[in-house]
Amino acid sequence: MAATELEQVVNLCKRRGFVYPSAEIYGGSRSSYDYGPLGSLMLRNVREAWIRTMVQQRDDVVLIDAAILAPPQVFEASGHLANFSDPLVDCTKCKQRFREDHLTDPNVCPNCAAVGSFTEARAFNLMFKTFAGPIEGAGAEVYLRPETAQGMFVNFVNVLQTSRKKPPFGIAQVGKSFRNEITPGNFIFRTREFEQMEMEFFVPPAESAHWYQYWCDARMRWYTDLGIPAEMLMLRPHEADELSHYSTGTSDIEFKYPWGWGELEGIAQRTDFDLQRHAEHSGQKLDYFDQANNERYVPYVIEPAAGVTRAMAAFLLAAYDEDIVNDEPRTVLRLHPRLSPYKVAVLPLSKKDTLTPLARELYATLADRYMVDYDETQAIGKRYRRQDEIGTPLCVTVDFDSLEDDAVTIRDRDSTAQVRVPIASLLSEVAGRLGF
Ligand code: ATP
Repeated sequence: MAATELEQVVNLCKRRGFVYPSAEIYGGSRSSYDYGPLGSLMLRNVREAWIRTMVQQRDDVVLIDAAILAPPQVFEASGHLANFSDPLVDCTKCKQRFREDHLTDPNVCPNCAAVGSFTEARAFNLMFKTFAGPIEGAGAEVYLRPETAQGMFVNFVNVLQTSRKKPPFGIAQVGKSFRNEITPGNFIFRTREFEQMEMEFFVPPAESAHWYQYWCDARMRWYTDLGIPAEMLMLRPHEADELSHYSTGTSDIEFKYPWGWGELEGIAQRTDFDLQRHAEHSGQKLDYFDQANNERYVPYVIEPAAGVTRAMAAFLLAAYDEDIVNDEPRTVLRLHPRLSPYKVAVLPLSKKDTLTPLARELYATLADRYMVDYDETQAIGKRYRRQDEIGTPLCVTVDFDSLEDDAVTIRDRDSTAQVRVPIASLLSEVAGRLGF
């Protein structure tokens, strides 16, 4: 089962400290969200799972961390200043604003139901502009990046010269992006401040189609390997009229959200558009000299572009489940262990001092390797439920017998099965069950 209503996950996130509305004491907003003790751990896990697959496990991709603030020249060259806009319409009755391509009926206002009340659509640029330094005005403008990708293009030659890589190779980045979305909404699915994980894969032009297919397959697999059921995912090639000005082919990985299918990640063939444009605008050579064939060329680019925060929403929605255990309903997040905020919870059966030293010692041993929770309050059944609800795959219970038999009980989140394990083999048992 997965969440059928967005509210199920929104409520759990608030209740358990995953996600809070940003600046909630001042009313909060849909622009951005704050990630609490569990949400920040999970976000980090999503990032790390991506870096592990996209960078650590391959020798042809390197990671960078570029600046968020960038001068207008970058976005003049990339085309964002001219083209990065959505069609904005105003309702002349209720004064609300909407993104025209998101209206179910382009004639009826979804807020006040007025018919034919919309203004002509106008292009609304989504970039946030601000000023660097003490003097506001011309010459001091900078932009908050609306995607991380430009950081990879402007550093193409730096990376080429310092990393011993040659095409086909990729430059990856994880970090915040900002878009002044006309209508943010659906919780963390669409916000004005969000986090992306993107990779630009530079290839000889003739290999572009091959690598496009390769990355479409690899990226679908990443989500299913991390536990999203295949039937909740779909690869949807863009129609010709949807393609960005630079793209010769784009596919979206779509996810079945409670409100319907929607984008989770985009995989685009960007050709040599970005490098050519930055070469023109900067006057620098942004190409590659292939010594083996004695030829100079501008690589083509395949870009898998995903959202960290949007992926977290999808993982939570897919993992959400409600079942009955011992005649009692429970909520359980069946998250992949790599994504769970805590991998293990150590639970001394009673708060009595006699169990504390051993429980604390096991906590310290496990915490050296994993993020571990320690919980000694309330009945053990209640504590199991608490861990189920936040997706902790394993609970380790220390009881009075543990002091005699040097063993503890391991309980599995999904099956709720419990087994007795010698303390001497606890670490290897936990690693075997988690898979790492
Ligand atoms: P949409 O059509 O939903 O506005 P897009 O096609 O503009 O998205 P891309 O530019 O392809 O999105 O961005 C790549 C990825 O970054 C998206 O697939 C999504 O996961 C994430 N992303 C983009 N915009 C937002 C946002 N406002 N909030 C959260 N994540 C976002």
